[in-house]
Amino acid sequence: MTIKANQIESLIGTLHLSQVNLDELFRSRADLTPLKSVELFLSDQLRIRLDKQNQIRRKRARLPFEKTLESFDFGFQRSIRKEQMLQLSDMTWIEQSYNVCFLGPPGIGKTHLASALAMKALDKGYPVSFTTLDELMRLLKTENISSVSKSRLKYVGKSALVVIDEVGFLPLSSLEANLFFGFISRAVERTSLIITSNKGFDEWAEFLGDATITTAILDRLIHRCEILNMTGSSYRLEHRKTITNR
Ligand code: ADP
Ligand code: MG
Repeated sequence: MTIKANQIESLIGTLHLSQVNLDELFRSRADLTPLKSVELFLSDQLRIRLDKQNQIRRKRARLPFEKTLESFDFGFQRSIRKEQMLQLSDMTWIEQSYNVCFLGPPGIGKTHLASALAMKALDKGYPVSFTTLDELMRLLKTENISSVSKSRLKYVGKSALVVIDEVGFLPLSSLEANLFFGFISRAVERTSLIITSNKGFDEWAEFLGDATITTAILDRLIHRCEILNMTGSSYRLEHRKTITNR
């Protein structure tokens, strides 16, 4: 029985598998037994499927930039040790539902490190969501009227790691502080969080506008948490680029 390539292509389509160049896949593999051929074909399909899922997860994470630990200058940022970050890169803390908080002034690498850890989590196959607090507030406030917000929050809810960046930049209204509390109490039960904030925990009541809610949020967040207090000067300001070479 002879099987034509276009018949196989059509079967691949019907089964929703990925079209592959069979000539290329089996080139110089004339020695293959039928069983080995099937195995080669299926393992190639599996590789393609995992690659696709990986790409989709990366896109859905919505990282602001692809910054890595390798591109972070630990010589410049001396309040964090490289070993600490490498230890966190093993991601065992995600399995134990721990949280990580990066606290400190602007420009010192909080978002960079949060993104770098998020990339490591993606590499390990975890679903990840990145959002700013501002964006999270917008999503929560529009959850019931926007299908886009609803579906984003659904993905955030399914993520093993959620990064909330820029906590404390803007003051929250009392409705927003309540929404944030609700989000944190639900999240700590089922996911790990990375929080970045330009405010120390002692200043959180100021932007949250309510001491009781602040205590309730911090209580849940800090229960299992690696707190990284960062100091130093802004990398942006120190490495300011100019247009002319003066
Ligand atoms: P923050 O979130 O603390 O305000 P960012 O992480 O956004 O600061 O850092 C500002 C910019 O400077 C980013 O482009 C980041 O990649 C870069 N940056 C900050 N610190 C370092 C560092 N120690 N090494 C390399 N790049 C850095
Ligand atoms: Mg930042």
